[in-house]
Amino acid sequence: MTDLVALSYGALRQKLLSKSVTVQDVVTQYVRRMAQTQPLNAFVTEYTDQALNQAAEADRRIQSGTARPLEGFPLAVKDNCCVEGMRTTASSKILENFIPPYTATVVKRLQDAGAIVLGKTNLDEFAMGSSTITSHFGPSINPWKIKGDTADLIPGGSSGGSSACVAGLSSLGALGTDTGGSIRQPAALCGVVGMKPTYGLCSRYGIIAFASSLDQAGPITRTVEDASLVLREMAGHDPKDSTSLVYTVPDYTKALGQSIKGMKVGIPKEYRPAGLNAEIAAWWDKTIQWMKDAGAEILDISLPHTKYALPAYYIIAPAEASSNLARYDGVRYGLRVPGGSLDDLYAKTRTEGFGDEVKRRILIGTYVLSSGKYEDYYLRAQRVRQRVTDDFTQAYKKVDVILAPTTANTAFKVGENITDPLAMYLQDVFTVSTNLAGLPAISVPVGLSNEGLPIGMQFIGPALQEERLFQFASVVEQAAQFKGIGQ
Ligand code: GLN
Repeated sequence: MTDLVALSYGALRQKLLSKSVTVQDVVTQYVRRMAQTQPLNAFVTEYTDQALNQAAEADRRIQSGTARPLEGFPLAVKDNCCVEGMRTTASSKILENFIPPYTATVVKRLQDAGAIVLGKTNLDEFAMGSSTITSHFGPSINPWKIKGDTADLIPGGSSGGSSACVAGLSSLGALGTDTGGSIRQPAALCGVVGMKPTYGLCSRYGIIAFASSLDQAGPITRTVEDASLVLREMAGHDPKDSTSLVYTVPDYTKALGQSIKGMKVGIPKEYRPAGLNAEIAAWWDKTIQWMKDAGAEILDISLPHTKYALPAYYIIAPAEASSNLARYDGVRYGLRVPGGSLDDLYAKTRTEGFGDEVKRRILIGTYVLSSGKYEDYYLRAQRVRQRVTDDFTQAYKKVDVILAPTTANTAFKVGENITDPLAMYLQDVFTVSTNLAGLPAISVPVGLSNEGLPIGMQFIGPALQEERLFQFASVVEQAAQFKGIGQ
């Protein structure tokens, strides 16, 4: 039998519907691959028996002609998305044994569309980080290696487990969440597609909150088409999330392969600082050339407040995190370390339950929200956020999409960038503005560095223009002919 784990859902679905393979064949191959790729530490918890049972059920549906849009789609779910009865840890000790009694709306929708959950994937603790190094369960490993070198590389983060398993062929697709870049950055470093939707397009209900005004779930897949199929099923209004948009989700696949002739692509000069990695700059130029070849018009633009976006993000995100994480007090959820008094119980539980990065964010967050500091930091950051948003509004008067690198570097070695938190925060320099402005963006793999590591480019669009992003991403995908692992 052909290697089913190497196929996209588009290709697989044809085989499933023509009954030349069964969902049980597919899931069996993925389960085998999950076992082979254990050293990637992509999964925190695996649910392979349940997945195989569901595969049998999916085959019955296909037999009876009632296949749903994602019937038999093997899916990995980032471990900050609750799934009823499945351990959900946010890769934190404080939730190490938490079994949620409900399912996040985005997961429920994908399950209702026929997706089969293989397991829960590793992340930086509470999605705070860019490497999965802050996970209580140890880092995930990037399936890519530097040519001729055996050193383990990080997969990026915080959705590092999700990207590693999709790139390493141990899941067909995965759910990630992106607060400041956590879908796009790991997707770029692992050579897969990562889509961060418009804020409010996908429900946040049942997703463990990090920074509520920034968090957004989205798909990580190997092809643009698969991303469009998954997003279509997971998106849409949810009355259980007060920030969920009322919006009719279009069929994104219609945008794939549509001509971009005459459309305008903005190239923001602030994303090309003097010291930009030369290979990433060269791949950016190459992608610009592909856009020109396809008939698009290229325009230089400016997003003047870009340099303030990262500092503003690292005030707003920790501020919201400090509030969201106040609920982990040893009383209602997860870990409880008994103490002599109620305050002592809180302190002991949180001291033992949270890792260093989470504590750092809580401290920063409570500081910037404290009286006397609130105006200087939090309110000022909110004003910057508005300026960053206004920059995009101005830009979209002139261009249809913005094209920029997703990351400023390729995957780094496990152990690098960990002593200085600021070095890690710089990982997000090209991604956070999009989240501050609530806009959609998609990262697509374009090629390999000289060392043999994947490089990704992102398209950033106006709010609710996911279709346009899929249209541009599919043009790049065609031009790049990027070969993932096993392709
Ligand atoms: N790396 C960023 C941070 O540490 C973004 C994380 C995310 O998008 N969840 O906050």
